[in-house]
Amino acid sequence: MRPYPTELEESSLRAHDRTQPPAQAFSLPPFRSIDPGWLLFDEGFTLTREHEIESLFAIANGYVGNRGSLAEGSPLSAPATFVAGVFEQSNSPGSIPELMVLPDWTGVRIWIDQHSLSIQRGKVLEHRRILDMRRGVLWREWRHRDPEGKITRIVAFRFASLADRHLLLHSVTLIPENYSSIVRFESSMEVTEGGVSLLAPEWKVRANSARPNLVPLAVRVPGRNTLVVFGVTSQVMNAKDSGTCRRLESKDGTITEHCEAEVEAGTECHLHRLISVFSSRESSNPFEDVARHQKQVLRRRRHDLIAAHTSRWESRWRSADIEVQGDDQLQQALRFAGYHLISAANADDGRVSIGARALTGAAYKGHVFWDAEIYMLPFFIFTDPPSARALLDYRYHTLEAARRKAKDSGFRGAMYPWESADTGEEVTPKAIIAPNGEVLIIRNGEMEVHITADIAFGIWQYWRATEDDHFFLDYGAEIMLETARFWASRGSLESDGGFHIRHVIGPDEYHQDVNDDAYTNLMAAWNLRHGVATAQFLGERWPERWAELSQRLKIAEEVATWSKLADAIFVLFDPKTLLYEQFAGYFRKEQIDLRSYDARSSAMDAILGHDRIQRTNIVKQADVVLASYLLENEFTPEVRAANFRYYEPRTGHGSSLSPSIYALVAARLGDLLLAQKYLEQASEIDLANNMGNAAGGVHAAALGGLWQAMVFGFAGVRIQENGIGFSPNLLSHWRRIAFPLEWRRRKLQISIEPGTIRVAISGSEAIHLELDGASKIHAEPQNQYLAERKGADWKPWRRVEEGGAV
Ligand code: BGC
Ligand code: BGC
Repeated sequence: MRPYPTELEESSLRAHDRTQPPAQAFSLPPFRSIDPGWLLFDEGFTLTREHEIESLFAIANGYVGNRGSLAEGSPLSAPATFVAGVFEQSNSPGSIPELMVLPDWTGVRIWIDQHSLSIQRGKVLEHRRILDMRRGVLWREWRHRDPEGKITRIVAFRFASLADRHLLLHSVTLIPENYSSIVRFESSMEVTEGGVSLLAPEWKVRANSARPNLVPLAVRVPGRNTLVVFGVTSQVMNAKDSGTCRRLESKDGTITEHCEAEVEAGTECHLHRLISVFSSRESSNPFEDVARHQKQVLRRRRHDLIAAHTSRWESRWRSADIEVQGDDQLQQALRFAGYHLISAANADDGRVSIGARALTGAAYKGHVFWDAEIYMLPFFIFTDPPSARALLDYRYHTLEAARRKAKDSGFRGAMYPWESADTGEEVTPKAIIAPNGEVLIIRNGEMEVHITADIAFGIWQYWRATEDDHFFLDYGAEIMLETARFWASRGSLESDGGFHIRHVIGPDEYHQDVNDDAYTNLMAAWNLRHGVATAQFLGERWPERWAELSQRLKIAEEVATWSKLADAIFVLFDPKTLLYEQFAGYFRKEQIDLRSYDARSSAMDAILGHDRIQRTNIVKQADVVLASYLLENEFTPEVRAANFRYYEPRTGHGSSLSPSIYALVAARLGDLLLAQKYLEQASEIDLANNMGNAAGGVHAAALGGLWQAMVFGFAGVRIQENGIGFSPNLLSHWRRIAFPLEWRRRKLQISIEPGTIRVAISGSEAIHLELDGASKIHAEPQNQYLAERKGADWKPWRRVEEGGAV
């Protein structure tokens, strides 16, 4: 049975151009972006896509996130609010913490006479959700005719303030087109099963007072001593300013407030809601903080609260937006990536990191993976260093847990968990049920050890790109040393003279319990060498710190062995073919021709099954190819090319982390056909739901990968010890790409056109610029530099003018 056909359903099923505004948009609300390149539309309502749309249209500010669900709900709505770091855990044995689904503060039902307005009752005349990615606001427009013939128009918006992370704002405007009536708004907050709701005893409900109610709701987090407190005030206003919000009900874990107003045909009626949220994670008295915060925000004009939020977004975009001329779909995908990455980070909280699906969905239980350091971190390092720093602080705060994990597993140093939550302990599930119903034993928590080197890699990258010595001295260095120490104990020097690391899972998770995984071993050797470099740096530049650290960690003697271990690392490399064997025995696996599965709609492990895939040569995701990008200096161009050519046809891209890296490496190799193919694939993971699982939240790592593909792939940016190199490879239909980049306190604005590259530099220090490894210039701040292509080569850089933006 079709659940509820609406007029719009069919049109929404037709592939619509998501970059174009609908033909008959509602009159534009005052602070919505006009440029369609900044907007994402969902036109109509398609029940089967609802979960995916809720993820894509989620709003967040790094502290709190909320899925883009319909306020009044639908049969398939899965509304959720998440607070970063708020994980619940059941007390059943073996349970693991999960990012908690908190009350949905957006729930508002509208009653007109005796009927509540619903997409299921009557006829939807127009319906759309619009995500204004520039301003961080989710809009909804809805025009509805109920069975009684009344036509109602709704315009609503909501956001999680980027200027004040504890503030959420929700506003609904209603216009009765052809009737006058009493309209009632019923806002409720529901506590999910297992949670307990309680009205804060100290807050008396002030019925009949002229002031708005403060509706409080507290949730005690199961399995944790955490309290999350929400406080909501609602105001209803009609043309005569005579609406009221009065009746409060608390029943079955739901608190409902009823507001009502008389409305006349053609006039507007508004419901404005301000929501404060605090938790005992950051506040010693979240009740008090909510009450104080509500007082503060109620004193301010709504307009100012909105302006503070949108101007913070403007400023974040100034340092993060990648502009592309000549490709509207890609432009939108890049904005979508930037939007969700900016929404995910909180520079003020070093005790949380970003989970695989950020704050947009519950997949992977909100856990943090290597996705954070290898895929997302670069975006923050080069566009908002304080947010990058906060992600790494999380690893410092969980260092003790990583030490415990190493010890419990029989190793030394710090062994970071494959999946982590609030405590930094290993929280990878021991088994999961695969989409095909198979129960899979999960050994990643014990074996996917490369994450430890990935974290060290992220720390080093951050430190070199920011020169944040304070971070390195106080936090980073200790992690560098403890992770190197882990590797020294995790591998062993065997009789063949090689340093072997056995029983691991590499990035390609289709092959489990393998030996001498190339990615793992190369990264481990990198970690060991950079452990040594850390000790040297400290010894030379900050001897007191080194004395303190080396004594406390009792590590000096061990450091002396690390270079030898790194040099002895056992990596299977064939000098004839220039190929790295992904792990010992990989080349002998059953060869499967992936081309014969080209028309597949599910991942290769689902098609072949978990056991069979291990016996084949199919690679889940960028693995050796990822190493060839991260450790590019250790690979000659010929070796990079050979490995890309070999692994590319063998990679199934069963992870969203894969296509962006293939796009990046293909672009660097100048293979623009493949680069374009993978770029498109990467940019559609969420927007076209091409992995089929966007319902669980957006793929934050893929979004970070997309940014890296553009900057490090197509623009060919290479970060060097004294500056930045470029080697652009633009797709032929792009007229221009432009983006900002921050490096060691200098802000660069880069603009690349087919035959020119321009770099404007602000800050107070000079920088070394390089082009295609050849043309070099010592570029002064507050100046603009230009290079032009002549034939196949670039002419030397020249200074074109002082100051000015590109
Ligand atoms: C992922 C692993 C993860 C496991 C359990 C699998 O789908 O590929 O990386 O550890 O799920 O969360
Ligand atoms: C990938 C991992 C990734 C995880 C979370 C898995 O499917 O294979 O590399 O860390 O998803 O995004």
